[in-house]
Amino acid sequence: MHISKLFIPILKNNPSEAKIKSHQLMLRVGMIKQSSAGIYSWLPLGFKVMKKIEKIVREEQNKIGVQEILMPTIQSSEIWKESGRFEDYGEEMLRIKDRQDREMLYGPTNEELVTDIFRSSIKSYKSLPQLLYHIQWKFRDEIRPRFGIMRCREFYMKDAYSFDISDEEAFFSYNKFFLSYLKTFKRLDLIAIPMAADTGPIGGNLSHEFVILAETGESKIFADKRIFDLNTNKTVLEKKSLEVMRQEYEKYYSVTDEKFNKEEFEKKVSNENRLVTKGIEVGHIFYFGDKYSKPMGASVDLPGGKKDFVKMGSYGIGVSRLVGAIIEAKYDEKNEVMKWPISIAPYDVSIIPMINKNENNLLDKANNIYTELKKNNIDTIIDDTDENLSSKIKKMNLIGAPYQIIIGKHTDGDLLEFKETGKDSYKLKLKDIIKLITEQKEKN
Ligand code: ATP
Ligand code: MG
Repeated sequence: MHISKLFIPILKNNPSEAKIKSHQLMLRVGMIKQSSAGIYSWLPLGFKVMKKIEKIVREEQNKIGVQEILMPTIQSSEIWKESGRFEDYGEEMLRIKDRQDREMLYGPTNEELVTDIFRSSIKSYKSLPQLLYHIQWKFRDEIRPRFGIMRCREFYMKDAYSFDISDEEAFFSYNKFFLSYLKTFKRLDLIAIPMAADTGPIGGNLSHEFVILAETGESKIFADKRIFDLNTNKTVLEKKSLEVMRQEYEKYYSVTDEKFNKEEFEKKVSNENRLVTKGIEVGHIFYFGDKYSKPMGASVDLPGGKKDFVKMGSYGIGVSRLVGAIIEAKYDEKNEVMKWPISIAPYDVSIIPMINKNENNLLDKANNIYTELKKNNIDTIIDDTDENLSSKIKKMNLIGAPYQIIIGKHTDGDLLEFKETGKDSYKLKLKDIIKLITEQKEKN
């Protein structure tokens, strides 16, 4: 795409209202626009990145056999009264009345609704397990929305739900998600550590938060550094080995401040392995047994003729929060350079031609390269404005395509000035640039 035709409202300076770097960058390059407190519109650049994240999240859910559905954003209060959460959820829930005076709400999460869907059709253990997910907007009337889309009121979440016949089977489902989350975050080029967590208003007995390290994170974390050395390459979803894998992670102390116990930390983790820092929660998984199935009467027939309430878990990923979390992890604020992982970058490469009013040949050359890259399925952004070269480079450094081609005085013949965004440039032929970028894309 040609930048002169794109809707990328770039600001010259950092907006003063933004306190953390992801919020600054997102406003600076016009990825989002606030429409009211904690509520944002997603502009082309931001939307493109979010959709790419969503795609990876979806692919990884599908790989473990979760079925995609789509539940509405607006729910009836009835089912929430059945579970008892209509009162418990408190002021974070946005309550609405329709014209018939019925109490409705904008869903902050979907345990009740999915349990209602389940109970209306699944009656036998033979249909279990059932794993369902959707990717949908949520609303939580956060008391203090802040940091842009990191803690906002309307946000985009992947939430999945598992239904099993027994605790043992339910742990198997839980472990599938545990593995899937490790893989999802790895594909997003993030290191997310699973941390034993409190279960909060969702309730229950087994829970992990997936947290990425970032100074600006809201959760304080305490961990054993050796947890970073664990590596999970499992492709087979086998019950026993998945349980072993999760226990392997659980051997290492890693908790947020809610669960922190100083004595335990110091006893379990030697001085040199102690890590105390901050992090951002990007995902959260829960096992809560029959917490919802029991009050809502979601039971199935068992082999012997008896009935039992189905055992459930829920599994969230903050898809929109991830956009900010990745910026927190990758943005070099000091040099004002963002380099998106190629798997989710808004563009694969940017072409930055020096344009001289008197001679148009560099723009022509840039356009030819653009066409060639496009033919090879390389998503390219080209700066066809007549700004000077250094301000064009600054702009592209913020937009964050992972590679740049600079077309200027130093371009001679076949050899182009090429660089990884933020690094030094070197000379490379177009066909080798295409090869390099294509290989990087295929790796992801
Ligand atoms: P937090 O502790 O950050 O308030 P939570 O524990 O209430 O989050 P969950 O119910 O576990 O959130 O939701 C699943 C995921 O949705 C979280 O891991 C997070 O990535 C995302 N999320 C939750 N609340 C928000 C919010 N207000 N804005 C953006 N993303 C959010
Ligand atoms: Mg949580």
